[in-house]
Amino acid sequence: MRLRLDSKLTKIVATIGPASRHPETLRAMIRSGMNVARINFSHGDHQTHGETIDNIRRLAAEEGTVVAVLCDIQGPKIRIGAIEREPMMLEIGDSITLTLDDIIGRDGIVSLPHPEFLRDIEAGATLLLDDGNLQFSVRETDGHNLKCEVVVGGPLKSRKGVSAPNARLTLSAITDKDSEDIEFALAKDCDYMAMSFVRSSDDILQLQELMRKLGRRSAVIAKIEMGEALENIEEIIAICDGIMVARGDLGIETPAEEVPFHQKRIINLCNEAAKPVITATQMLESMTDNPRPTRAEASDVYNAILDGTDAIMLSAESASGSYPVRAVEVMSEIAAIAEQNLSYESAALINEGNAGEAREDISNAICKATTEISHAIKPKAIVTTSMSGYTTRRVAKERPGTPILCMTPNTTTQRLMTLVWGVTSLQVQEFSTIDEMISVIVRTAFDKGLVDRGDRLVIIAGVPFGIDGQTNLVKIHAVGEEGEI
Ligand code: PEP
Repeated sequence: MRLRLDSKLTKIVATIGPASRHPETLRAMIRSGMNVARINFSHGDHQTHGETIDNIRRLAAEEGTVVAVLCDIQGPKIRIGAIEREPMMLEIGDSITLTLDDIIGRDGIVSLPHPEFLRDIEAGATLLLDDGNLQFSVRETDGHNLKCEVVVGGPLKSRKGVSAPNARLTLSAITDKDSEDIEFALAKDCDYMAMSFVRSSDDILQLQELMRKLGRRSAVIAKIEMGEALENIEEIIAICDGIMVARGDLGIETPAEEVPFHQKRIINLCNEAAKPVITATQMLESMTDNPRPTRAEASDVYNAILDGTDAIMLSAESASGSYPVRAVEVMSEIAAIAEQNLSYESAALINEGNAGEAREDISNAICKATTEISHAIKPKAIVTTSMSGYTTRRVAKERPGTPILCMTPNTTTQRLMTLVWGVTSLQVQEFSTIDEMISVIVRTAFDKGLVDRGDRLVIIAGVPFGIDGQTNLVKIHAVGEEGEI
């Protein structure tokens, strides 16, 4: 596949599962615009995940592109045990006990094998089960049994999830299963590790510490799905490498009606901090069974892009649905339309909240000026030469409307850019002079078929090279003007 600069700018994360792990399906998804493959460790086994990761890497290389691997770690998900005759039908006003005892659920008693969770729940607490479809009120607790009254009834099946929206939980952020999955994911050289049920920056620090002990690192995505995480959102954004607005659990832990407000606020804060943000869950939910999205879903994807999301995510649609490739195509099509309508003015609005930014900050001024220049002269691309990806992320947050080409000697940075809005990333050799830099940039882009003779580029860089976070040079360059090709 020939790299193109004019394809969609919004990144697509697709969850890989039984419906999409076949190599030819993966290839079609890559061709349709999948930038990041999400491996969900709440399901499946290491052998299957390992094969999928190997296939993704091989296919991306064959297709001449980069697809990052995002390993999504389950976290302390609370689930009831097995139920003997399911579903167990519960009516409003019924009594039901959730117990630590290792029993098979029957007649008003079901096991809940999570001692830390039971310890934290007090009488009066509300429990939501099965994605909020059932609601219990806790009447009594002795730390071993929770005696509850059914407030919203319905059918209850084995292993359904339980959440306690307003409780302060002291569960460990990383379970024993998580530790094994993290070790496996690092051994497979995953690019992004997504941490579930993050409450504060301490949870992220714990994951980073575990990675240090294991002697390997990956970038960390904090999944925002807890009320407590919303309270601590600034410190979480500051410490992690990216954010996922995990709307599924967020809509259980907080009222679903509030999710759009949280989504917009989180996206805005991530844009300000120049950290990539993924909007996740139910984006094209009906495409799990149908080849076309609903109008509301098309609007949801479109609006998330106007809100300023870097990436949009498919879950069941691509993991277990009937139309995984079509779902990626539909996302790409909606994204391309939204991007045409993401005007300079609305992009400026995305960044309007940046009042706290130091205006004297040279890098920032250059990134803003680059956007202005791009709107004035419409170059073929903005080219960033970036070691850590920081300059590239800062330009991307301005939503310049022009593709951004990140030229980096660093393979990790190249792979991490897959999640950043508008960025195509290429690995290049290191350079030591400005002339050498221009020659390397132009030759690489020309050889890859990304630019032609006479195309204009806006090149930004930090000189001397190799120092992170320092951007102090802008060069407007016509391809071939210095005889580089
Ligand atoms: C979510 O809750 O929206 C989410 C992405 O997490 P998971 O699919 O792991 O429950």
